[in-house]
Amino acid sequence: MSKSKIKVVLVSLLLVFLSFFGLNQGNIKADELQNKQVLLASNIIKSIKYQGDIKTELEMIKNKGILDPDALNIDLTLEKTFQKTLENLEIELIKNKLELELVSQQILSVQDTAKLPYLGDGSYTWPVEGYFNVSQYYRRGHKGVDINTLGAHPNVVAVQTGIVVKAGNESDGFGNKVIVYHGEDTYTLYAHLQTIKSKVGQYIEEGVAVGLVGNTGNSNGDHLHIQLTKTGNVENNTIDPYEYIKLSEKK
Ligand SMILES: [Zn+2]
Repeated sequence: MSKSKIKVVLVSLLLVFLSFFGLNQGNIKADELQNKQVLLASNIIKSIKYQGDIKTELEMIKNKGILDPDALNIDLTLEKTFQKTLENLEIELIKNKLELELVSQQILSVQDTAKLPYLGDGSYTWPVEGYFNVSQYYRRGHKGVDINTLGAHPNVVAVQTGIVVKAGNESDGFGNKVIVYHGEDTYTLYAHLQTIKSKVGQYIEEGVAVGLVGNTGNSNGDHLHIQLTKTGNVENNTIDPYEYIKLSEKK
């Protein structure tokens, strides 16, 4: 990437950040957030400055022979590290709970046009605490996996970190349902909940409760029905979630 391109990217990012957080003025948390943004922005600007003369700076570091705090800053300007830093910066912004509380609505509004990076790690968590009885597997005509709890109402937990994008009853057979967006085109859906314990816009970590197992909607007896997609439409275009969640079964 050329220097001018990097500058364009940086300025664009700055504008995105500022427009994101500019919408949240007028509350105390927003002020804290703005301070944080100013700090991030100044770091980016500092990096642009260093970007202008990397070779000289590196030569200086070499000659010094030791790394001082300034040198560590300069190291960030190495192009590869620098790009990685930008990516991490974006992911950090998304992962920071405080910021997410404030910007969740904005994130939801850009979700269709701008995909978030994948928020999870490689592993998935089993979705029902303490219950492992699969009463129905993924098959033609059944777009998810059922986990039977024999009348109990344990926590249903997010199998992967994400953002809650739906939480409610839409009279569509799923009963009380929660949909979690995990970034890229990955979503999970949790159906027939007795109680919903999460809300739209909430950043939810893997293993945190989205609700309680129940018997709402088109359901015969207390169970969780969970669906997974990696192509954006979790209500219809699904894949077998068991292949993913079974990895962590009985942990
Ligand atoms: Zn089912």
